[in-house]
Order: sequence, then structure tokens, then C-alpha cells
Amino acid sequence: MVTVTVWNEYRHERESEAVAAVYPDGIHTVIADALGERGHDVGTATLDEPEHGLTESVLDETDVLVWWGHKAHDEVADDVVERVVDAVHEGMGLLVLHSGHYSKPFKRLMGTSCSLKWREVGEKERLWTVEPGHPITDGLPESFEVPHAEMYGERFDIPAPDELVFLSWFEGGEVFRSGCCYTRGKGRIFYFRPGHETYPIYEQPEVQTVLDNAVEWAAPGDGPTPTFGNTDPIEELE
Ligand code: ZN
Repeated sequence: MVTVTVWNEYRHERESEAVAAVYPDGIHTVIADALGERGHDVGTATLDEPEHGLTESVLDETDVLVWWGHKAHDEVADDVVERVVDAVHEGMGLLVLHSGHYSKPFKRLMGTSCSLKWREVGEKERLWTVEPGHPITDGLPESFEVPHAEMYGERFDIPAPDELVFLSWFEGGEVFRSGCCYTRGKGRIFYFRPGHETYPIYEQPEVQTVLDNAVEWAAPGDGPTPTFGNTDPIEELE
């Protein structure tokens, strides 16, 4: 069992009737319920809670943090961002969803602009599983469709992923690297593209399977803690 904290900005759902109709209890609740049904120990946190719900003790208890944000990235306090980045370096997993590509923690961890092309007309997206041996693809078909999506197109200004798991095609002709794996320090990071607030994408079984698999994949391993700096030889030197 993985201890997961699902973080959501939780503004669109409270400010827009159209979004509230799709996610009446917030995007975080749908994701948390889906992961909980799959056996994970799930809590939630939102922007307007003290320290955005991401206190030292919450992060200490979190194996994998899931991040959804869009319109208020700038309101995330820098000290909380530092805390999240440090936790990743120390081994916490991070799943960054959809518009989280522009979140402060993701940009900090990538070191690039994380910019992309976008268009919102509700066109079809097809995700291709391009790394079928990867654990994040367990139980998925060769490809699956998101019937109505916001388009994200290349170039996506990210460092080349360690592993590229999904590639998206859009009805309008663009393609996008939709499932990107990284390690930073001891932590594993997975960026997953689907999930615009006006479409019920997080209700889709294939999407929930990806999130479940990604949580398992990103959970901290049991590797050694590295040491740095001046060091005595391990072997006897002449
Ligand atoms: Zn969006």
C-alpha cells in the first residue's frame, strides 16, 4: 500500500458552474477515490489550506504526491515549493498532471520553461502506449481514446525524459509526449498529460489505471542514501 497525497488547486471547481458540473467535489476527490478503491492510503490537500495542506508532517508521511494546478500556480508559496522539491530529492514520488506542467515544483525539477502549444475545442485525443514493458502500462491496451480533450502540442519544452511511456495524437494533427518519467535525486517523477477541468477525464478507467500504476512506480524504493564530498578510500591504497 502506497501513502498518497492528492494536491489540487481547487479553484476552477468553486468558481465555475461548468467545472463544478463535471467535478462537483473537486478533481482531487475523484482521483483520491479512484486510488483509494485500488488499495492506496490516500489523503488530499488544497491550495487554500494553511501551507497549502503540505506541511512538513504531511510530506514526511507521503510516499507519492499527485499535483493538479492551473490558474493559481503563482500563489503557491516558494517555501512550500522548496519543501516539495526537497522531498522529491529525498525520495518522495511526484505525479504531475495536465496543466501542472507549469507548476512551480515541476518547473524547478525540470529546469526548463515547460511551455507547450495548446487549443481548447474538445477534440479527440488518442494515447499510444509506446513502452509496453513499462510498469505504468500494466493492464492497458496498445492505445486508448480520450473523447474530448484540450490539445497540448509539441514542442513541449522539457528535458528528454528518462523513459517516454505515452505519446498523444490529436484530431487537429499535433502530437505530444504524454507520459514522461524522470528521476531527480532519489525521487521518481511522472508527468501525465490528460485531465482538463471541463472534461470528466479522471473518471475514465484507462486514466485511473495509469494513475494507479504510476503511484506504484513512483513510490520510494529502498536504495542507499548517497554520500558526497571528500572521502577515504575503501580499498587499501599503496
Ligand atoms: Zn487544461
